[in-house]
Amino acid sequence: MILDGKLVAQKVLDEVRAGVARLREAAGVTPKLAVVLVGDFAPSQIYVGNKMKAAAAVGILSEDHIHPGGLDRSALLALLGRLNADPAVHGILLQLPLPGGLDESEMIGAIAPEKDVDGLHPANLGALLAGTPTVVPCTPAGCMELLDHYGAKLEGAEAVVVGRSRLVGKPLAQLLLARHATVTTCHTRTRDLAAHTRRADVLCVAAGRARMISGDMVKEGAWVVDVGINRLETGKLAGDVDFESTAPRAHAITPVPGGVGPMTVAMLLRNTLAAAERRAARR
Ligand code: NDP
Repeated sequence: MILDGKLVAQKVLDEVRAGVARLREAAGVTPKLAVVLVGDFAPSQIYVGNKMKAAAAVGILSEDHIHPGGLDRSALLALLGRLNADPAVHGILLQLPLPGGLDESEMIGAIAPEKDVDGLHPANLGALLAGTPTVVPCTPAGCMELLDHYGAKLEGAEAVVVGRSRLVGKPLAQLLLARHATVTTCHTRTRDLAAHTRRADVLCVAAGRARMISGDMVKEGAWVVDVGINRLETGKLAGDVDFESTAPRAHAITPVPGGVGPMTVAMLLRNTLAAAERRAARR
Protein backbone atom coordinates (compact mmCIF):
# COMPACT_ATOMS: atom_id res chain seq x y z
CA MET A 1 0.00 0.00 0.00
CA ILE A 2 1.28 3.43 -0.91
CA LEU A 3 0.86 6.09 1.77
CA ASP A 4 -0.18 8.89 -0.56
CA GLY A 5 0.95 12.18 0.96
CA LYS A 6 -0.55 14.26 -1.83
CA LEU A 7 -3.99 12.79 -1.24
CA VAL A 8 -3.94 13.08 2.55
CA ALA A 9 -2.41 16.58 2.41
CA GLN A 10 -5.27 17.64 0.15
CA LYS A 11 -7.77 16.37 2.72
CA VAL A 12 -6.01 18.40 5.44
CA LEU A 13 -5.86 21.47 3.19
CA ASP A 14 -9.60 21.20 2.47
CA GLU A 15 -10.24 21.15 6.22
CA VAL A 16 -7.96 24.16 6.70
CA ARG A 17 -9.73 26.06 3.91
CA ALA A 18 -13.07 25.44 5.60
CA GLY A 19 -11.60 26.49 8.97
CA VAL A 20 -10.22 29.71 7.52
CA ALA A 21 -13.66 30.58 6.10
CA ARG A 22 -15.34 29.79 9.44
CA LEU A 23 -12.90 31.98 11.37
CA ARG A 24 -13.35 34.86 8.95
CA GLU A 25 -17.09 34.64 9.31
CA ALA A 26 -17.19 34.16 13.07
CA ALA A 27 -14.44 36.54 14.16
CA GLY A 28 -13.61 38.66 11.13
CA VAL A 29 -10.05 37.32 11.24
CA THR A 30 -7.98 36.05 8.30
CA PRO A 31 -4.92 34.02 9.38
CA LYS A 32 -1.62 35.44 8.23
CA LEU A 33 1.74 33.73 7.92
CA ALA A 34 5.03 35.66 7.84
CA VAL A 35 7.76 33.78 6.01
CA VAL A 36 11.37 34.63 6.74
CA LEU A 37 14.11 33.38 4.43
CA VAL A 38 17.71 34.37 5.03
CA GLY A 39 20.39 33.48 2.49
CA ASP A 40 20.24 32.01 -0.98
CA PHE A 41 20.00 28.23 -0.34
CA ALA A 42 18.16 27.08 -3.47
CA PRO A 43 16.02 24.28 -1.92
CA SER A 44 14.79 26.73 0.75
CA GLN A 45 13.65 29.11 -1.97
CA ILE A 46 11.57 26.32 -3.48
CA TYR A 47 10.12 25.24 -0.11
CA VAL A 48 9.19 28.83 0.80
CA GLY A 49 7.54 29.36 -2.60
CA ASN A 50 5.52 26.15 -2.19
CA LYS A 51 4.40 27.10 1.31
CA MET A 52 3.23 30.56 0.24
CA LYS A 53 1.40 29.16 -2.78
CA ALA A 54 -0.33 26.58 -0.59
CA ALA A 55 -1.28 29.28 1.93
CA ALA A 56 -2.92 31.36 -0.77
CA ALA A 57 -4.85 28.34 -2.02
CA VAL A 58 -6.57 27.88 1.37
CA GLY A 59 -7.17 31.59 1.98
CA ILE A 60 -4.31 32.19 4.42
CA LEU A 61 -2.55 35.51 3.86
CA SER A 62 1.22 35.53 3.75
CA GLU A 63 3.97 38.08 3.65
CA ASP A 64 7.56 37.29 2.80
CA HIS A 65 10.75 38.64 4.25
CA ILE A 66 13.36 37.33 1.86
CA HIS A 67 16.99 38.33 2.32
CA PRO A 68 19.12 36.49 -0.22
CA GLY A 69 22.16 38.56 0.72
CA GLY A 70 21.86 37.49 4.37
CA LEU A 71 20.99 39.36 7.57
CA ASP A 72 23.17 39.83 10.59
CA ARG A 73 22.17 38.63 14.04
CA SER A 74 20.76 41.90 15.31
CA ALA A 75 18.82 42.61 12.11
CA LEU A 76 17.21 39.15 12.18
CA LEU A 77 16.37 39.49 15.88
CA ALA A 78 14.83 42.90 15.16
CA LEU A 79 12.76 41.47 12.28
CA LEU A 80 11.47 38.59 14.44
CA GLY A 81 10.69 41.10 17.21
CA ARG A 82 8.62 43.21 14.80
CA LEU A 83 6.71 40.16 13.57
CA ASN A 84 6.10 39.02 17.16
CA ALA A 85 4.59 42.43 17.93
CA ASP A 86 2.50 42.68 14.75
CA PRO A 87 -1.10 41.79 15.63
CA ALA A 88 -1.92 41.03 11.98
CA VAL A 89 0.64 38.18 11.92
CA HIS A 90 -0.50 34.86 13.45
CA GLY A 91 2.35 32.61 12.41
CA ILE A 92 6.07 33.07 11.77
CA LEU A 93 7.95 30.59 9.65
CA LEU A 94 11.72 30.92 9.85
CA GLN A 95 12.98 28.74 7.02
CA LEU A 96 15.88 26.51 8.07
CA PRO A 97 18.75 25.99 7.68
CA LEU A 98 20.03 29.47 8.50
CA PRO A 99 23.30 30.52 6.90
CA GLY A 100 26.45 29.95 8.93
CA GLY A 101 27.09 32.55 11.58
CA LEU A 102 23.48 32.65 12.75
CA ASP A 103 22.57 30.54 15.77
CA GLU A 104 19.41 28.57 14.90
CA SER A 105 18.53 27.88 18.52
CA GLU A 106 18.76 31.54 19.41
CA MET A 107 16.60 32.58 16.46
CA ILE A 108 13.95 29.92 17.04
CA GLY A 109 13.89 30.98 20.67
CA ALA A 110 13.30 34.58 19.61
CA ILE A 111 9.97 33.70 17.97
CA ALA A 112 6.94 34.16 20.24
CA PRO A 113 5.86 30.57 21.11
CA GLU A 114 2.26 31.29 20.14
CA LYS A 115 3.43 32.34 16.65
CA ASP A 116 5.92 29.48 16.27
CA VAL A 117 3.93 27.51 13.68
CA ASP A 118 6.89 25.18 13.10
CA GLY A 119 6.56 24.03 16.72
CA LEU A 120 10.31 24.21 17.33
CA HIS A 121 10.43 26.77 20.15
CA PRO A 122 11.61 25.16 23.41
CA ALA A 123 8.25 26.01 25.00
CA ASN A 124 6.39 24.08 22.28
CA LEU A 125 8.82 21.16 22.26
CA GLY A 126 8.64 21.13 26.06
CA ALA A 127 4.84 21.00 25.96
CA LEU A 128 5.10 18.00 23.64
CA LEU A 129 7.46 16.28 26.06
CA ALA A 130 5.16 17.13 28.96
CA GLY A 131 2.27 15.42 27.20
CA THR A 132 0.35 18.67 26.67
CA PRO A 133 1.17 19.46 23.03
CA THR A 134 0.18 22.86 21.69
CA VAL A 135 2.02 23.43 18.42
CA VAL A 136 3.45 20.18 17.05
CA PRO A 137 6.34 20.32 14.53
CA CYS A 138 4.97 20.01 11.01
CA THR A 139 6.91 17.10 9.55
CA PRO A 140 6.41 14.71 12.50
CA ALA A 141 2.76 15.77 12.70
CA GLY A 142 2.46 15.00 8.98
CA CYS A 143 3.95 11.51 9.48
CA MET A 144 1.39 10.79 12.22
CA GLU A 145 -1.48 12.09 10.09
CA LEU A 146 -0.45 9.77 7.26
CA LEU A 147 -0.18 6.74 9.55
CA ASP A 148 -3.57 7.55 11.09
CA HIS A 149 -5.27 8.15 7.76
CA TYR A 150 -4.31 4.67 6.56
CA GLY A 151 -5.13 3.04 9.89
CA ALA A 152 -1.72 2.04 11.26
CA LYS A 153 -2.07 0.42 14.67
CA LEU A 154 0.42 2.20 16.90
CA GLU A 155 -0.53 1.01 20.36
CA GLY A 156 1.95 -1.64 21.44
CA ALA A 157 3.76 -1.52 18.09
CA GLU A 158 7.54 -1.57 17.87
CA ALA A 159 8.35 1.83 16.35
CA VAL A 160 11.86 2.69 15.24
CA VAL A 161 12.84 6.24 14.31
CA VAL A 162 16.13 6.71 12.49
CA GLY A 163 17.34 10.26 13.20
CA ARG A 164 17.18 12.40 16.33
CA SER A 165 17.01 15.95 15.03
CA ARG A 166 15.04 18.66 16.78
CA LEU A 167 13.11 19.14 13.54
CA VAL A 168 12.00 15.55 12.91
CA GLY A 169 13.41 12.58 14.82
CA LYS A 170 13.00 13.69 18.43
CA PRO A 171 9.47 15.09 18.18
CA LEU A 172 8.36 12.12 16.03
CA ALA A 173 9.60 9.70 18.68
CA GLN A 174 7.58 11.62 21.29
CA LEU A 175 4.43 11.53 19.17
CA LEU A 176 4.75 7.77 18.67
CA LEU A 177 5.38 7.30 22.39
CA ALA A 178 2.28 9.33 23.20
CA ARG A 179 0.33 6.85 21.08
CA HIS A 180 1.67 3.96 23.15
CA ALA A 181 4.19 2.59 20.66
CA THR A 182 7.41 1.14 22.05
CA VAL A 183 9.91 3.55 20.56
CA THR A 184 13.58 3.17 19.70
CA THR A 185 15.50 6.15 18.34
CA CYS A 186 18.59 5.43 16.23
CA HIS A 187 21.40 7.78 15.20
CA THR A 188 24.96 7.74 13.94
CA ARG A 189 26.33 6.10 17.10
CA THR A 190 23.77 3.28 17.05
CA ARG A 191 25.49 -0.08 16.91
CA ASP A 192 23.99 -2.43 14.32
CA LEU A 193 21.28 -0.21 12.88
CA ALA A 194 19.78 -3.07 10.86
CA ALA A 195 19.14 -5.10 14.03
CA HIS A 196 16.86 -2.28 15.19
CA THR A 197 15.16 -1.48 11.91
CA ARG A 198 14.36 -5.18 11.33
CA ARG A 199 12.33 -5.23 14.54
CA ALA A 200 10.16 -2.29 13.52
CA ASP A 201 6.45 -2.66 12.88
CA VAL A 202 6.56 1.07 12.13
CA LEU A 203 9.82 2.38 10.70
CA CYS A 204 10.30 6.13 10.26
CA VAL A 205 13.51 7.31 8.65
CA ALA A 206 14.77 10.88 8.82
CA ALA A 207 18.52 10.67 8.40
CA GLY A 208 19.20 12.57 5.19
CA ARG A 209 21.18 9.70 3.59
CA ALA A 210 19.91 8.62 0.20
CA ARG A 211 18.56 5.05 0.18
CA MET A 212 20.44 4.06 3.33
CA ILE A 213 17.65 1.66 4.35
CA SER A 214 17.42 -1.30 2.00
CA GLY A 215 14.71 -3.93 1.87
CA ASP A 216 16.75 -6.46 3.85
CA MET A 217 16.77 -4.02 6.79
CA VAL A 218 12.97 -3.92 6.94
CA LYS A 219 10.58 -6.35 8.65
CA GLU A 220 8.08 -8.13 6.44
CA GLY A 221 4.74 -6.30 6.75
CA ALA A 222 6.16 -3.10 8.26
CA TRP A 223 4.79 0.41 7.85
CA VAL A 224 7.59 2.55 6.41
CA VAL A 225 7.59 6.33 6.53
CA ASP A 226 10.44 7.90 4.58
CA VAL A 227 11.05 11.51 5.57
CA GLY A 228 14.31 11.93 3.68
CA ILE A 229 14.63 14.20 0.69
CA ASN A 230 17.98 13.82 -1.03
CA ARG A 231 19.06 15.28 -4.34
CA LEU A 232 21.03 12.68 -6.33
CA GLU A 233 23.84 13.57 -8.73
CA THR A 234 21.42 12.87 -11.56
CA GLY A 235 19.24 15.70 -10.24
CA LYS A 236 16.49 13.23 -9.17
CA LEU A 237 15.08 13.13 -5.65
CA ALA A 238 15.49 10.07 -3.46
CA GLY A 239 14.34 9.22 0.01
CA ASP A 240 16.36 7.64 2.81
CA VAL A 241 14.69 4.31 2.04
CA ASP A 242 15.44 2.29 -1.08
CA PHE A 243 11.88 2.10 -2.39
CA GLU A 244 12.50 -0.65 -4.94
CA SER A 245 13.85 -3.24 -2.51
CA THR A 246 11.63 -2.18 0.41
CA ALA A 247 8.18 -1.81 -1.17
CA PRO A 248 7.73 -5.55 -1.85
CA ARG A 249 8.39 -6.36 1.85
CA ALA A 250 6.52 -3.48 3.46
CA HIS A 251 2.82 -3.49 4.21
CA ALA A 252 2.74 0.25 3.53
CA ILE A 253 5.33 2.80 2.39
CA THR A 254 5.56 6.48 1.51
CA PRO A 255 6.94 7.47 -1.88
CA VAL A 256 9.53 10.24 -2.30
CA PRO A 257 8.47 12.67 -3.59
CA GLY A 258 4.75 12.66 -2.82
CA GLY A 259 4.86 11.22 0.70
CA VAL A 260 5.85 13.22 3.75
CA GLY A 261 6.80 16.39 1.82
CA PRO A 262 3.25 17.55 0.97
CA MET A 263 2.14 16.64 4.52
CA THR A 264 4.67 19.06 6.01
CA VAL A 265 3.19 21.99 4.10
CA ALA A 266 -0.37 21.01 5.01
CA MET A 267 0.47 20.74 8.71
CA LEU A 268 2.16 24.15 8.64
CA LEU A 269 -1.06 25.69 7.39
CA ARG A 270 -3.11 23.75 9.93
CA ASN A 271 -0.81 25.13 12.66
CA THR A 272 -1.22 28.66 11.27
CA LEU A 273 -5.00 28.39 11.33
CA ALA A 274 -4.86 27.01 14.88
CA ALA A 275 -2.66 29.94 15.99
CA ALA A 276 -5.17 32.42 14.55
CA GLU A 277 -8.07 30.56 16.19
CA ARG A 278 -6.34 30.60 19.57
CA ARG A 279 -5.69 34.34 19.31
CA ALA A 280 -9.28 35.05 18.25
CA ALA A 281 -10.55 33.01 21.22
CA ARG A 282 -8.43 35.09 23.64
CA ARG A 283 -9.85 38.41 22.48
P1 NDP B 1 19.55 16.24 10.39
O1 NDP B 1 20.77 16.19 9.55
O2 NDP B 1 19.33 17.38 11.31
O3 NDP B 1 19.47 14.91 11.28
C1 NDP B 1 19.76 13.66 10.72
C2 NDP B 1 19.69 12.61 11.81
O4 NDP B 1 19.92 11.35 11.23
C3 NDP B 1 20.72 12.79 12.91
O5 NDP B 1 20.14 12.56 14.16
C4 NDP B 1 21.78 11.76 12.58
O6 NDP B 1 22.41 11.22 13.74
C5 NDP B 1 20.97 10.67 11.91
N1 NDP B 1 21.76 9.93 10.94
C6 NDP B 1 22.45 10.43 9.89
N2 NDP B 1 23.09 9.43 9.24
C7 NDP B 1 22.79 8.30 9.91
C8 NDP B 1 23.17 6.94 9.73
N3 NDP B 1 24.00 6.57 8.73
N4 NDP B 1 22.71 6.04 10.61
C9 NDP B 1 21.89 6.40 11.62
N5 NDP B 1 21.50 7.68 11.83
C10 NDP B 1 21.95 8.61 10.99
O7 NDP B 1 18.35 16.07 9.37
P2 NDP B 1 16.76 16.42 9.52
O8 NDP B 1 16.18 15.65 10.63
O9 NDP B 1 16.56 17.87 9.45
O10 NDP B 1 16.25 15.82 8.13
C11 NDP B 1 16.38 14.46 7.81
C12 NDP B 1 15.97 14.23 6.38
O11 NDP B 1 14.59 14.58 6.24
C13 NDP B 1 16.71 15.08 5.34
O12 NDP B 1 16.82 14.32 4.15
C14 NDP B 1 15.78 16.23 5.09
O13 NDP B 1 15.94 16.79 3.82
C15 NDP B 1 14.45 15.56 5.22
N6 NDP B 1 13.36 16.44 5.62
C16 NDP B 1 12.20 16.29 4.94
C17 NDP B 1 11.11 17.04 5.26
C18 NDP B 1 9.87 16.79 4.53
O14 NDP B 1 8.98 17.63 4.56
N7 NDP B 1 9.71 15.63 3.89
C19 NDP B 1 11.16 18.06 6.30
C20 NDP B 1 12.40 18.08 7.05
C21 NDP B 1 13.46 17.30 6.69
P3 NDP B 1 23.34 12.10 14.73
O15 NDP B 1 22.36 12.87 15.59
O16 NDP B 1 24.09 11.08 15.49
O17 NDP B 1 24.18 12.99 13.86
